[in-house]
Amino acid sequence: MIKPDILSQLQKIIGEEGVLTTKEDLYAYSYDSTATWTHLPDVVVMPTTTDQISQVLKLANENKVPVTPRGGGTNVSGGSIPIKGGIVLCTTRMNKILDINKTNLTATVEPGVVLQDFNQALAKEGLFYPPDPVSFLGCTLGGNVAENSGGPYCVKYGVTKQYILGLEVVLANGYVMHVGGVTVKNRTGYELAMLFTGSEGTLGVITKITVRLLPMPLANKTMMAVFDDMAVGGQAVSNIIGRGVVPAKIEFVDNFVIRRIEEITPMGLPVDAKALLLIQVDGNPAGVEMDTKQIVDILKESGAKNVKVAKDAAEAETYWKMRSAGFAAVFGAAHTVIAEDVAVPRDKLAEFIKKLEEISKRTGFFIQYLGHAGDGNLHPSIFTDMRNKEEFERAQETMGEIFRAAMELGGVLSGEHGIGLEKQRFLKEAMDPVAIDIMKKIKGILDPNNILNPGKIWEEGEA
Ligand SMILES: Cc1cc2nc3c(=O)[nH]c(=O)nc-3n(C[C@H](O)[C@H](O)[C@H](O)COP(=O)(O)OP(=O)(O)OC[C@H]3O[C@@H](n4cnc5c(N)ncnc54)[C@H](O)[C@@H]3O)c2cc1C
Repeated sequence: MIKPDILSQLQKIIGEEGVLTTKEDLYAYSYDSTATWTHLPDVVVMPTTTDQISQVLKLANENKVPVTPRGGGTNVSGGSIPIKGGIVLCTTRMNKILDINKTNLTATVEPGVVLQDFNQALAKEGLFYPPDPVSFLGCTLGGNVAENSGGPYCVKYGVTKQYILGLEVVLANGYVMHVGGVTVKNRTGYELAMLFTGSEGTLGVITKITVRLLPMPLANKTMMAVFDDMAVGGQAVSNIIGRGVVPAKIEFVDNFVIRRIEEITPMGLPVDAKALLLIQVDGNPAGVEMDTKQIVDILKESGAKNVKVAKDAAEAETYWKMRSAGFAAVFGAAHTVIAEDVAVPRDKLAEFIKKLEEISKRTGFFIQYLGHAGDGNLHPSIFTDMRNKEEFERAQETMGEIFRAAMELGGVLSGEHGIGLEKQRFLKEAMDPVAIDIMKKIKGILDPNNILNPGKIWEEGEA
């Protein structure tokens, strides 16, 4: 329980309207988009300025109160669950786009700006910020930086870290630090902005973000390829990249998602297909035509049963809506859905899919998957019910086998969702022990009282 005098100091710093304590409010900030974790905070604060965040952290640090930063709460690794109670510090009232600079191709935003709002503001200026987590309707730029998020566009354009130029970060002791800047090049000392990118709220609270932008591509085209075999679809991805054509997006959707979406919103999808690849190319109009033709040829040579090129923007949008609805279709399918995130080298995608099929057969668990195939990044899901302890444990063991299968192929434990609570028991298998030790030492220097998002990344008792 938070002491009454700390609560009244928080109210003084933020104002009463920005400090939430009712049971309903606390419940609303006790979960994120994972299915298996919840924990009530003692209080939720909704600051509107960096100075308020600085004062909150100073107070929390002096009194050793845990602080869990939170943006949209859309993460799927347990990252914004206040597992040790204390304060949830939610940035959604800090939602101003501070600057869009068309000449410099940069923008500066507050951390609570919702990605979709940012994209719409940029589109009006003919500008483009590529990192596009599919949760764009609810996730914030602060959460995207803290998770170093990816998305469909990352095949061609890279992930969030490739766009960060500068950050303002409030450290655990309340100090407001600036790292990086607004220039495209900056070789002044260590790349500290990268240290906070992907730090999952454990090293500091990000309060201002300057990103690099691109001009909006002039043209794009979407294709949908139908496969009778999932591994053949996976191999087609390697074949495309191997020929030196790099589409903007290559997404994979399996039969389960195709059927669920067709049930919910009929859109004429091929419900018998074992897998679909959705591909988008973009750039100048002539280049787009050339790439489209080449990719259609490669898809056919690679065994696609059918390849459709969307005739117009409306048809393309239907296909991408289907992909965006993928997680929603999956999450509603069982009491507990363990939806995961692994990445393998792109040329190992077909082999990984075969391994998943083998694991599914052996364990008896149906494994559903969709994902950013162009990055070798799949989201395998297992449907279970955590109320059945024995089955839930077997489901978790099966997910462990999936992680290990990915790592044996040279892949990684998380492509984009982070470690949070969900994957900390696998960290030791996934990283060099010396690297883990260095990370813990960095955490110890920046947050000696372990107030920032405690209980995350490392297992209990290790941080
Ligand atoms: C339907 C769906 C689709 C998704 N698709 C993708 C996808 O394609 N690619 C992808 O990468 N992810 C995806 N995600 C996961 C998620 O949306 C991303 O991780 C996203 O970046 C989280 O942003 P958020 O604002 O919701 O952050 P939150 O969930 O609130 O927080 C995420 C982490 O960041 C920390 N944090 C938040 N704000 C700050 C801050 N200002 N300073 C310091 N730390 C902070 C939190 O403590 C937490 O550890 C998806 C999730 C859903 C539900």
